[in-house]
Amino acid sequence: MSWGSTDAIRLWRDICREIRKKSDTAYNVSFKDIVPISYDDTELLLGISEEFAAEWIIDNYSDVLDEAVQAVCGSSRKVLFEYGHMPEHVSAEEELELEAEEETHVSAPAVSLAVSAPAPVQHRTAEKCLEENTFDNFVVGEENRYAYTAATTTAQTPGIANPLYIFGGSGMGKTHLIQAIANDVASRQPKAVIRYTTCEEFLNEYVASLKSKTDFRFRDRFRNVDYLLVDDIHFLGGKPQIQEEFFNTFNALCNSRKQIILTSDKPPAEIRGLEKRLVTRFQGGMTLQITESTFETRLAILRQMQENMATRFSDAILNFIASRIRSNMRPLKSALLRLSFLASSGVEITLESAEAMLSDVLDKEAEERSLHLSPEAIQKAVADYFELQVKDLTGKKRTANIAAPRMLAMYLCRKLTESTQQEIGSAFGGRNHATVHHACESVEADLKTDEQTRRAVSIIQRSLQG
Ligand code: ADP
Ligand code: MG
Repeated sequence: MSWGSTDAIRLWRDICREIRKKSDTAYNVSFKDIVPISYDDTELLLGISEEFAAEWIIDNYSDVLDEAVQAVCGSSRKVLFEYGHMPEHVSAEEELELEAEEETHVSAPAVSLAVSAPAPVQHRTAEKCLEENTFDNFVVGEENRYAYTAATTTAQTPGIANPLYIFGGSGMGKTHLIQAIANDVASRQPKAVIRYTTCEEFLNEYVASLKSKTDFRFRDRFRNVDYLLVDDIHFLGGKPQIQEEFFNTFNALCNSRKQIILTSDKPPAEIRGLEKRLVTRFQGGMTLQITESTFETRLAILRQMQENMATRFSDAILNFIASRIRSNMRPLKSALLRLSFLASSGVEITLESAEAMLSDVLDKEAEERSLHLSPEAIQKAVADYFELQVKDLTGKKRTANIAAPRMLAMYLCRKLTESTQQEIGSAFGGRNHATVHHACESVEADLKTDEQTRRAVSIIQRSLQG
């Protein structure tokens, strides 16, 4: 076990308690997964996943950590980090053992740390941002932990990374996070001038200002700010005129040490048609990725949504949605809303009925994930469904029990792969493209009228999603 002694665990837990008094967010994001290894009178050795995470703590939280160590140990310790430790949480049993030991322990007089009560924060919503896009409502998981940490730190301590650049796929929470920064700054620093915009709006406003000859006002609006937040900056790609304007805005703000935060669907160097000088600028701060969501995050998002809903679904239903809708948080959330609406209209929601009610969303999801499928995989799935052999589908026989599945398999190849009709024809025993074309049209017509065909397509498609 890579955990240190019970003493080290206890000591670290006390230190964490102190850290949490200062900042729960700092604890949850940066300290929670640390593994205490050993300590003595002069040093405290902590295990951490990677160098980046340790540097983050040293750069941002060394005061918080030092004070917590001082409070618990009564004197300071040199804190050292060892990399490569994955989070390993104390099991409930170990936790209980510790608690029991603690109760029989005569503890040393606590060294008190004067912690002033945090000033109450009045929640405000930044212009053009949604009220619900806050840090509190953002579920933190492995895939977005660093982006979240950077976002909260930037909101509280601007200037550490300029620009802060967060990228990731659609529906991964980028807009939520960038607006959470804007809302957090609006709440904690009411005097700060915050400008949140989508890149598209930035372009539209600029064009309008040129037309009405008020571009000086436009510049004033975007350059006299403390925080400039631009969502979907990849939109700049291939639009040289607006890149010039943005480059100047960017420089003006950086020179006066104002914070810039950007989101994008790609890292800077991969945005097509983005000038080199902008790529370099964007890379000059901190670039962080939000990767594909984990099941735990998706489930937590659903649970969080449920808290504000009249309907409570069983864990089985929530698990079902979280495991089947993975690509994007938007359809995930709409699926729950749809079920909730149906439930409040009196429809009974079971796993079977949920599957039927969400079939369009589930099919779309399956389609997304099937894009890299091969015709061979599709032939196998179709053959399995109809209890045939793949060679029946690629062979010459034209009896109805084989011809219909063959056409369906061709249709699915067309729908789920990038293959051309010609390529599909070759995969089916050297048939020509006209045969494939005819098969697709015939299945499409059947789908409009025939429930059995619809059902077959739906089931096969889902089996292909793995
Ligand atoms: P993006 O801008 O990356 O396309 P959004 O920020 O618009 O994605 O997220 C889509 C929806 O999913 C929003 O309703 C957002 O609040 C929600 N969402 C995404 N990620 C999270 C998360 N980690 N915690 C809570 N809600 C999330
Ligand atoms: Mg977005």
